[in-house]
Amino acid sequence: MSRFWSEVVHGLTPYVPGEQPRIEGLVKLNTNECPYPPSESAQQAIAAAVGESLRLYPDPEARALKEAIARHHGVPVEQVFVGNGSDEVLAHAFHALLRHESPLLYPDVSYSFYPVYARLYGIAAREVALAEDFSLRVDDLLAASPNGGIIFPNPNAPTGMAMPRAEVERLLRANTGSVVVVDEAYAEYGAESAIPLVAQHEQLLVVRTLSKSHALAGLRVGYAIGQAPLIEALTRVKDSFNSYPLDRLAIAGSVAALDDTAWLARTLERVVATRERMSEALRARGAVVLPSAANFIFASFPGRDAAELLTLLRGHKVLVRHFKRPARIAPFLRISVGTEADTDSLLAALDAILA
Ligand code: PMP
Repeated sequence: MSRFWSEVVHGLTPYVPGEQPRIEGLVKLNTNECPYPPSESAQQAIAAAVGESLRLYPDPEARALKEAIARHHGVPVEQVFVGNGSDEVLAHAFHALLRHESPLLYPDVSYSFYPVYARLYGIAAREVALAEDFSLRVDDLLAASPNGGIIFPNPNAPTGMAMPRAEVERLLRANTGSVVVVDEAYAEYGAESAIPLVAQHEQLLVVRTLSKSHALAGLRVGYAIGQAPLIEALTRVKDSFNSYPLDRLAIAGSVAALDDTAWLARTLERVVATRERMSEALRARGAVVLPSAANFIFASFPGRDAAELLTLLRGHKVLVRHFKRPARIAPFLRISVGTEADTDSLLAALDAILA
């Protein structure tokens, strides 16, 4: 038997998401979940969907959800693709679109899922270094390749820094030959969305999730917005794997969540206010805090080892995230924005550690 598959597949390093501990009473600031419960109407819609109809397959088109997304963003329903979390949407985007672009560019400090997929599909990837101030520069992307495929998060993860829409537009005007995926997992917290650019730019795909902004990480709902040819390519690939994108509960809950715009506005406002308070309080304690447009902050504490700080914080029952690579981000901790009470616990723990 050929062992080629074994060499390739056993050699893969899978993406490892942040820890989901089973310990009670932890202040969990490590995986950027929303700290507040999802909209009441979303919870009620899920409860109402539990019943006899679960014996039936869900709508393979998830039409009700696509229509809710189209309403939410003011785009035609033909421009919407849905999937099981944005990780799955990204996986389909790599398979259907980015796999056929060469080279594929992404920032050297970015979502660690991208290199996993580039390796899985044998894509010739080129990492583009962030600037000195940790921003992602359009000129650096264009210098790396004027016509490569591109994927980047906006705001970037784990830095939290956003690229202005005008810069995304400049990139799309300069690089018209390849697919450009903008991963807007955290955009509602403060980045300018690229969705309004979809109508003019056929190569643009914007990927979104309900995990962060809508407090529905447990429901696994993600989507993409792009012109119909890109959406059709994604659908073709998806159908080859699993023709039911989402279950009945996920469809019911996410339609209600998207329509509850008052809940969204209130929740975003609370999280952003806490993020600003947290950033200020950390700076007052000597930390270097990058400007965040997301629901997490990226901070370093000069003179302190970040991995050791993480362990000490864990001793105080506060869980944060640390990335060893690339080396330039090793001094930083990524801290999700929690509730006001979570922030009090974080600051109390830091005061005890840094004293
Ligand atoms: N993109 C980025 C930049 C992320 O940080 C995450 C969350 N780890 C995702 C996509 C995936 O989120 P989900 O699969 O929950 O939609």
